[in-house]
Amino acid sequence: MGIIRQLSAAVINQIAAGEVVERPASVVKELLENAIDAGASRIDVAVERGGKDLIRIADNGRGIGVDDLPLAFMPHATSKLAEADDLFRIATLGFRGEALAAIAEVSKVRCQTRQADSPEGSEISIDAGVASPIRSCGCPVGTVFEVRNLFANTPVRRTFLKSDSTEAGHVAEMFSRVALAHPTIHLTFRSAGKLVHDLPAVTGINERIAVFFGRELADSLLWIESRIDDIHLWGYVAHPSQSRSSAKGQFLFVGGRYVRDRSLGHALSEAYRGLLMVGRSPVAFLHLDLPPDQVDVNVHPTKVEVRFRDGQRIYSQLLATVRQTFLASDLHSRLQANA
Ligand code: ADP
Ligand code: MG
Repeated sequence: MGIIRQLSAAVINQIAAGEVVERPASVVKELLENAIDAGASRIDVAVERGGKDLIRIADNGRGIGVDDLPLAFMPHATSKLAEADDLFRIATLGFRGEALAAIAEVSKVRCQTRQADSPEGSEISIDAGVASPIRSCGCPVGTVFEVRNLFANTPVRRTFLKSDSTEAGHVAEMFSRVALAHPTIHLTFRSAGKLVHDLPAVTGINERIAVFFGRELADSLLWIESRIDDIHLWGYVAHPSQSRSSAKGQFLFVGGRYVRDRSLGHALSEAYRGLLMVGRSPVAFLHLDLPPDQVDVNVHPTKVEVRFRDGQRIYSQLLATVRQTFLASDLHSRLQANA
């Protein structure tokens, strides 16, 4: 007898869920991204006990049709992708059709949703992957997700979670990334019953940077922008005097998606060379918009890493754009002295 066997669907789902949902902040990220993909102009986020007991996200987006509601929670079920070729023209934040299934597998979820052309809403509850029949309910146009008792059915994973305040901190960080990437969306954040942020829609990210990083840093920002062929780089870099002891003040958004990229982090450091003391890191908020076929976002289950078709070209563009901005500013003389 051989020793290899195919895993049961339950085990496969648990493994897949583990890749997407690591902690409450991962749930918040996925639900926020879904709300943005649904075209919401307002999203309210609330957590209790750092999200361990409750995560509630309400949006005013286009809602989910009653026939689609059970499907939305099936693994690999999505409205955002139809064929393999679509993977190279992704214009939405989601596309893997995994998040809702993963979340429903490891928590108790209730979803109420209504589309604009529907007189009433529908509601579904799913407990550890088992769905209740759909009921009709009264609710505004949009979608509300309530996620309770995260990892209650996987006690070992629950013990990996940190204290309420640490988890709330991770949620707040996730919230700030989305708030910086999408300033035109009105966002609120409540933690333990307290309103932490109420961020009205604004056109630029400057106001939001001030909220999260303080007025002094926001006032020191230098605008950078360049467009080379179809690669549009824009955003703000902070004055060297605002540097930090870690790279935590560096934000890169590719097509509105927060990503980490070591190579571009290096390009940024290179641009500041000679302007920072040893051990200090620059602060920057950079957006990169490029055609979907120039970037592969399907590298990582949580999509926090991406692969550029021509990373070297983007590296050079970033370095040159920031350098030119410094040369045109009052940092000119310091750069020359260091040259
Ligand atoms: P993905 O986002 O990769 O498509 P998800 O599991 O996150 O996968 O969501 C599955 C589907 O459920 C989405 O494709 C979308 O059609 C629907 N959906 C999820 N959240 C919302 C929402 N807040 N508003 C409208 N539709 C939603
Ligand atoms: Mg999604």
